[in-house]
Amino acid sequence: MPNVPQYIFGMHDQGGEGLMLNAGKPGWVLVTAKASDSGGDFSALAGAGLGAIVRLNYGYGSDGTLPPSSQYDAFAQMCANYVAGSRGANIWIIGNETNLRGERPGNSDSNPGEVLTPDRIAQCFAKCRAAIKRVPGHADDWVATPPPGPWNPETTYPGNPGGDWVKYLQDILNQCIALGQPPDAIALHTYTHGFDAGLVSSDANMAPGFPNYHYHFRAYRDFLGVIPGALRSRPVLITETQPADPGWWQNRKIGWIQAAYGEINAWNAVPTNQPVQALILFRWERGDNRWSISDKSALQDDFRAAMQNEYRVPRSVSAPQPAAPSPSQPQPTQPPKPPPPAQTPSTTGWCPFAKKRVIVDNNWDAGRSGQKVKAVVLHVAAGPMTAVFPTFNNPQRLASAHFCIGKDGSIEQYVSTDDVAYGVGMKYANGQWLNPRGVPCKPLWTGLTPPLNPNLHTISIEHEGQPEDKWTPQMYDANTRLLQWIAKQSNLTYVVHQNLIGHYEIDPADRPNCPGPNVEWERIVADANGTPSPQDTLDQIQASANEVYQLPINVQSALVKFAQVNKLGCPQTDEIGFAVSADAYICQVFSGGIVYVKKGDWGNVQSVKKPQDAPTPSDPVASAAVAAAQQVKWMPINTGSAFYKFAQANNLGCPQSDEFEFTVDTDYVGQVYVGGFVYVKKGDWANIKWIKKSDQ
Ligand SMILES: [Zn+2]
Repeated sequence: MPNVPQYIFGMHDQGGEGLMLNAGKPGWVLVTAKASDSGGDFSALAGAGLGAIVRLNYGYGSDGTLPPSSQYDAFAQMCANYVAGSRGANIWIIGNETNLRGERPGNSDSNPGEVLTPDRIAQCFAKCRAAIKRVPGHADDWVATPPPGPWNPETTYPGNPGGDWVKYLQDILNQCIALGQPPDAIALHTYTHGFDAGLVSSDANMAPGFPNYHYHFRAYRDFLGVIPGALRSRPVLITETQPADPGWWQNRKIGWIQAAYGEINAWNAVPTNQPVQALILFRWERGDNRWSISDKSALQDDFRAAMQNEYRVPRSVSAPQPAAPSPSQPQPTQPPKPPPPAQTPSTTGWCPFAKKRVIVDNNWDAGRSGQKVKAVVLHVAAGPMTAVFPTFNNPQRLASAHFCIGKDGSIEQYVSTDDVAYGVGMKYANGQWLNPRGVPCKPLWTGLTPPLNPNLHTISIEHEGQPEDKWTPQMYDANTRLLQWIAKQSNLTYVVHQNLIGHYEIDPADRPNCPGPNVEWERIVADANGTPSPQDTLDQIQASANEVYQLPINVQSALVKFAQVNKLGCPQTDEIGFAVSADAYICQVFSGGIVYVKKGDWGNVQSVKKPQDAPTPSDPVASAAVAAAQQVKWMPINTGSAFYKFAQANNLGCPQSDEFEFTVDTDYVGQVYVGGFVYVKKGDWANIKWIKKSDQ
């Protein structure tokens, strides 16, 4: 195993590692080298607890980061010689930003050079990885594929006419797996378009060319979203990051570096995310003022501030694993079960806004045997949501779906989308499809690829209710959010009956009514492909709600319960402490009065009218409660408002904020309620909608 440091901090080039060592936070150092050199001595870095990553280039400029394809064997030997001649390094990256024209062999202003397609990268990488691993003492080294340059569409090839850089990475990784040389680590680059710390967590996208991709730092998530299941436990190294065009590094401490490390640490804190082991700042060396850090003390201060945090390399980094089966190998109709004891669900492929409910491993298979998701199948549960988990968790049933959506818009997830659920199982035998009962079927869906069980390349979503039911608006909204999340993960744009299908299209014999006749397919596709999405709306409303005052409401508190029972309406303040003689009390203002109680005497809550409704009470405790209530600001509650009426009709409880405005594609008005966000397009008051908070 390579020397893995304790922290995710890192610097491109040697010279800046003192900052990490002085902070007591040893992280990573990236060194670039020409593979034709004889090797390097990195033992001092390793000795200090730093992790050395060496990026091996064939050359720079018109030589190309990789050689012409005729020289891949020689280049692989060159890399192995460099490794053999080096000390203290066991992590190697082969080439750099190979999707950029300027990195190709033979490129010049007039000559595009030899295009570095995923095929060529994989050929070259496979040879280099094999050669490096044959060097004595380096069998367990990490060899990583070249990081693509995000947002750069210069490399196009059949299957990727638009130069999609995310698909480019996905294709490289899949080709490497197919060649039996899966990378041991995955190298990425990411940047912001401008020197502004807020851009680090921006979800702004690439519209219109690549509307599903992030335009700023979170481009790393687009890459992580396509890493094949077989590589989801491999370490991820972000080996370059900085603010870039139109605003590069400046000698100002604006918190960009702190934000970047905070973002990665937050990503790593989510157990279902594939963790990122390194975030390496570009770069220490001088030469070009746009990216040098060694001459900018304010950036070094920002880096030191980031290193005040315990941002550690996440979890145990797994040792390299055997290659996954290649997609070109014949597939069994039933993927082989991994050996006992129990299979563990993929850690990724879990929707962040779905309720995770892992089911027994009899009812799903780990991994997709190299297959990619190519369609989403909609089902009807033919029963209540509460019955779905127990059914799928019953080891006798051999049935499951990835998700179920409730009539109230709640979403449960039972199987990672990286794993196979038993939603649409079919068997191909003697030239025909058989459904699970063995009945021959003529599926309507043209996406079936005999003899592959369609479970291998589909995601199944159940929907609460009966086939004849009309979906509730909440169900449509949740379905849209989920489809949009899946689209991002699996790179889908939905087309009805092509990659968004009903179970009946696969098993017309036994499932002619799944999901049922009242499902509005065109509406689903329009919403799922369109903007603004409920997810965008949710993100925006959440961001705007965070900027307005939100009243905390504890629906379990004695005062709130008392107010409910006595029909005193909604709280307008938080609980307020006050004292009478030596006794501690709390009070709280509701729309229908002021409620108070002696601390500890919770069964004895009382209320008093508001000062505008009655003269000061003679009872000393009641009058003290009124006086205490008048010390704080009361949130106004307009029980006649359209939002309030809508919220009551939908059981969303009391408001927690005033109304506020926000913008997605156009201007909206929103308000926070206990049960969710209520919102409406400005002027479209007949069409109020609501959406669950993302933590609900
Ligand atoms: Zn079904």
